Amino acid sequence: MGEKSKTWEYQLQYIRDVSNLLGLEPAIHEIICKPKAILQVSMPVRMDDDSIKNFDGFRVRYNDALGPTKGGIRYYPDLDLDTEKALAALMTCKNAVVNLPYGGAKGGIDCDPKKLSKGELERLTRAYAAAISSFVGVDVDIPAPDVGTDSQTMAWFADEYYKITSKIIPGIITGKPIALGGSQGRTGATGRGCFFATVEASKASNFPIKGSAVSIQGFGNVAYHAAINFYEAGCKIVAVSDSTGGIYSKDGVDPRQLMEYKTKSGSVTGFPNSKIITSLDPLTVDCDILVPAALEGMITGKNANDVKAKMIVEAANAPTTPEGDRILNEKGIIIIPDILANAGGVTVSHFEWVQNRIGLYWAAKEVDQRLEQVMSQAFKDVYEQTKKYDVNLRMGAHALALGRVAEAMKLLGRI
Ligand code: NAD
Repeated sequence: MGEKSKTWEYQLQYIRDVSNLLGLEPAIHEIICKPKAILQVSMPVRMDDDSIKNFDGFRVRYNDALGPTKGGIRYYPDLDLDTEKALAALMTCKNAVVNLPYGGAKGGIDCDPKKLSKGELERLTRAYAAAISSFVGVDVDIPAPDVGTDSQTMAWFADEYYKITSKIIPGIITGKPIALGGSQGRTGATGRGCFFATVEASKASNFPIKGSAVSIQGFGNVAYHAAINFYEAGCKIVAVSDSTGGIYSKDGVDPRQLMEYKTKSGSVTGFPNSKIITSLDPLTVDCDILVPAALEGMITGKNANDVKAKMIVEAANAPTTPEGDRILNEKGIIIIPDILANAGGVTVSHFEWVQNRIGLYWAAKEVDQRLEQVMSQAFKDVYEQTKKYDVNLRMGAHALALGRVAEAMKLLGRI
């Protein structure tokens, strides 16, 4: 586990730096340093052995100047409010970078989903939906999947919400199964978006993607789909890890075969023709492109010097601490920051919400073309900011985002 508990402090530091860069009014700065609303809930849930266990849950609505708030639901052990606040602030910036009509939010439950049965997960999800039902809404706050949750979780949440409100409002939550109003392309959208962002960065920096050695930390939803995209573009996937360990293969692995293996064995380690490495090793192995796609706080002052990649695509949220970031920048590594790199997921979530509201559904090809267009435009917008302020991509992305949020706040008359 990385330096997770400090993520909030780090996010505030980025906001502070960019506020100074943009010369934002102190009142705006003060508002964007605080979540708009926080709901903390306690949920008693009946377990399979008939005992009652109490779970803590959160929902943070960070800033809604640009529209209803939006962000994922995370199920993770020891989830804490500060991390949720940081992730909600990041969502505010991410939604603004890709120019979505949304503010930012995040939520989650302190639990280990791997240790819960399907029935327990369903009861917990329904309890959470009931507990936060008055805090969310199709025009207020729209949740989605994140670490430890998936389309089935979204389906249970939606059903509970429909029961409570006596209305079928599919746009209340995104990342649903296709059969319940989910969008084509949503499952793989974050990984696909990472790839589109990398294509733009490679054009801007004359960095060839084809033939690159790619190393990936994590092998969940985002990592797997990123791996497939890079693999199909002619890259070698040389390292992959999950929470149980990792693998390295100089010649590269086929991500689909690796997923088949992991599904059967429960871990990536032991995959034929690969060497066992640790969960953290993919960050520092020899490679051209590094994709941290696990959790926050993984690249730090302790290991950043050992990073060998020339380009980092932050598929995970906040995978790099400010100290790690400083070192990587000194080494001249191109970093596509989280709020740009992994914005593909929320972009297709937005498409899902739009399709739910108009009741018309798009083909996979149309979704993909729209996603490519959004990611490409976002990269260009961020790049323009980097030139304007002579800053790196992370600062450029934050400048773009906070500039848009600040403009909306002023127009709304909030300062
Ligand atoms: P997931 O639960 O599907 O996968 C997480 C992966 O990380 C798993 O393979 C897990 O084994 C691995 N992992 C956990 N701890 C690790 C460690 N110490 N070392 C190596 N691997 C470790 O989650 P996901 O949806 O793929 O999310 C991954 C990251 O992407 C998170 O930061 C999440 O916030 C971010 N993200 C997700 C989405 C989305 O659409 N799901 C969108 C944007 C950003």
